[in-house]
Amino acid sequence: MRIAKAMAQAGLCSRREAERWIEAGRVSVNGKQLKTPAVTVTAKDKVFVDGKPLTRAEPPRLWRYHKPKGLITTHSDPQGRPTVFDALPKAMPRVVSVGRLDISTQGLLLLTTSGELARHLELPATGWLRRYRVRARGRVTQDTLDTLKSGVEIDGVRYGEVDARLDREQGANVWLTMALREGKNREVKRIASHLGLEVNRLIRLSYGPFALGDLKSGTVEEVKTNVLADQLGPKLAGELGLEAPGKTQAKKPSRRSVKRRVRR
Ligand code: URA
Repeated sequence: MRIAKAMAQAGLCSRREAERWIEAGRVSVNGKQLKTPAVTVTAKDKVFVDGKPLTRAEPPRLWRYHKPKGLITTHSDPQGRPTVFDALPKAMPRVVSVGRLDISTQGLLLLTTSGELARHLELPATGWLRRYRVRARGRVTQDTLDTLKSGVEIDGVRYGEVDARLDREQGANVWLTMALREGKNREVKRIASHLGLEVNRLIRLSYGPFALGDLKSGTVEEVKTNVLADQLGPKLAGELGLEAPGKTQAKKPSRRSVKRRVRR
């Protein structure tokens, strides 16, 4: 990542200030004083500002949270409704959510200590698939659902490809599985409503590579650092100060194992 970004991320100054400090000769990388901010650094580089080492922000942490219904995804609600963040275990550090779930939606919500990671995972360009189980009042056919594959425009908002499957009919309701990559506000409800369906239960099953699985409602589970780094890929993991996923080195076979192989 750019040196100015690394300095800003460490909470030292803004990017703009960092650029000025670099031009003023206050910053060195691996013992060399910088003259220009057009330099990229990784977690391995030794950055000094005014002769003091740049202490990196803690690497990001990520949790899977099974959001129950009835909680709002905001840090403080002017209407005083219970929030996701009030409901988290007290031992959790301060976290932000990766996107939001409506108050009536339950299921997987990712939480992280890093605003930067959250922003990255929310970006449509990141393109992580969000899968939902949907119960909705009304009737729809698979053929109609298939029309969503080419995207749909509703009230001037363009929704990209939606993969929707009719799982079953139950009384006045249908159960669907819907998968989308964008994360627009109330997207499942709006798309369903466009097809004449009224969503009355919505459960997020997965977000990118992370699944709700059998996580109990209201509980959190931290994603292991190496799993997170693997899923982000080496470039982003490196930029965020996560250990780059190590390649498993093929062990030099011992003489015994070679012999055994030969015998087979
Ligand atoms: N789509 C919705 O309509 N609501 C959610 O909470 C998530 C996706």
